[in-house]
Amino acid sequence: MSYNTKPKEYIYQFLENHKNKRFSIKDLNDWLIENNYNVNLATIYRNIDKLVKDNVLLKHQNVDNGYATYQYIENEKCLTHFHFECIKCGRVSHLGAKETNDFLKMIKKTMFFEVEPQNTYISGVCNNCKKVFISF
Ligand SMILES: [Zn+2]
Ligand SMILES: [Zn+2]
Repeated sequence: MSYNTKPKEYIYQFLENHKNKRFSIKDLNDWLIENNYNVNLATIYRNIDKLVKDNVLLKHQNVDNGYATYQYIENEKCLTHFHFECIKCGRVSHLGAKETNDFLKMIKKTMFFEVEPQNTYISGVCNNCKKVFISF
């Protein structure tokens, strides 16, 4: 195993641990430091850019502040459906293909607007967090 492959392994380890959570470069960097993995920022950016190109990661650029976040794609379907993100626990859920299509059609018909599912996160409160909230 050469030294060059190590950072990639660390990053994959992070992705396996953050499957349904959106993350920033800072989150990844903090995790690497926490685990005593020594990877410099330039290497992190290079690896992340490559993973985005290879469709392993979905990149979401915030229009307001230019800040980018990423989501690990477990299968190709993530490029064509909507994601819901919980504002309390950060968990990302995937909307089914049929529901996504119905929604896209409805928006196109009523708003004359073509939504790009891969760039769209709908924020709210997930079922788990709602339960916790109600029990208080
Ligand atoms: Zn998905
Ligand atoms: Zn939640």
